[in-house]
Amino acid sequence: MSPPVTWQTRESLLLAPYAMHAADSAGRVHPEPPHPIRSPYQRDHDRIVHSSAFRRLAHKTQVFTGYLGDYHRSRLTHTLEVTGIARTLGRGLALNEDLVETLALAHDIGHPPLGHAGEDTLDELLAAEGGFNHNAQALRIMELLENRYPDFPGLNLSREILEAQAARVKGRPAAGLRPTTAPLLETQVVDAADSIAYDTHDADDAIELGLVTLEELLDLPLVAAAATRVTDRYGPLDGIDRRRAVIHELVDMQAVDLIAESQTAITRLGIDSVASVRSQRTDTGHPLRIVAHSSGIAVGKKDLEAFLFRKVYRSERVMTVRLAAQEKLSRLFQWYCDHPDSMAPSYRERSASVGLRRSVADYLAGMTDRYLEWDHDQRV
Ligand code: MG
Repeated sequence: MSPPVTWQTRESLLLAPYAMHAADSAGRVHPEPPHPIRSPYQRDHDRIVHSSAFRRLAHKTQVFTGYLGDYHRSRLTHTLEVTGIARTLGRGLALNEDLVETLALAHDIGHPPLGHAGEDTLDELLAAEGGFNHNAQALRIMELLENRYPDFPGLNLSREILEAQAARVKGRPAAGLRPTTAPLLETQVVDAADSIAYDTHDADDAIELGLVTLEELLDLPLVAAAATRVTDRYGPLDGIDRRRAVIHELVDMQAVDLIAESQTAITRLGIDSVASVRSQRTDTGHPLRIVAHSSGIAVGKKDLEAFLFRKVYRSERVMTVRLAAQEKLSRLFQWYCDHPDSMAPSYRERSASVGLRRSVADYLAGMTDRYLEWDHDQRV
């Protein structure tokens, strides 16, 4: 019997030259001995999945809170949809799937309870302390807030994970981690998968909740194109069968387009290494993302997003729930500022170094929607 194939051999056989090979990783802030079996990115993957921030995604809002029913996506199921799509994109382009999967699983761990309503509230409450942003919060979780190992604070992830997360924090340099270079292709496909997932499943959830109809969506060219493909494949379908087939087709159409367009760009630009990925620039000198849709799909997505913003994210039902949620979060924030000794010990102690308001925000941001609700009703 031949010996088991090592991760180094697997990667050298399967990955494109422009993929991020784990053997070339810049390592961890706190050096650790290599694992006998797992690659560095497999270890990062497991550290994310075993973190409490990841587990709590199960009970955090994506767009619609529990008040509106239980069909719709939670932050965790959104994350898993993104991970599946990102793996398809990553494998289609021969990228490092371990890294892609890790980045996808980690991409939303910084979200506070109550979705963007919670984020906006904390941002206002922390206006004098630099604000609150879910991407920056994910970095705080990775580097500081998750304490699972005796040797260091945080998860001590590979620098490529921190770099990808830092690049998502708008307006901030990436903490000494190559702020001016283009992101790795693994990061680029995860960002694209996030967009494919939420555009599509927010449309699906919104139909289920009666906020929009499939007929209204069919006025949008992107959705109409998906419906045409569905009819070509299955013949006429009605009701829920049609809706499911259109949603599925929307995901597939975008994924296939993205892989083909990105592959063409990689060839056209002569991308043959991670260094050449990082050095790509737009005409105006900004870091260039190679992973992109064809112009037809890109325009179609913009239309769909504008429609969802108008009809769903800013709809009266969503806004009413949002307002009630924001009030609870604000009241609980103030309550903990007045009673800091009631926070978990690590948050209470950390307030000496990071400030009370930041530490209260860290504590509240870690809560799930239902825990926040319960805690609010106990305390306030
Ligand atoms: Mg997301």
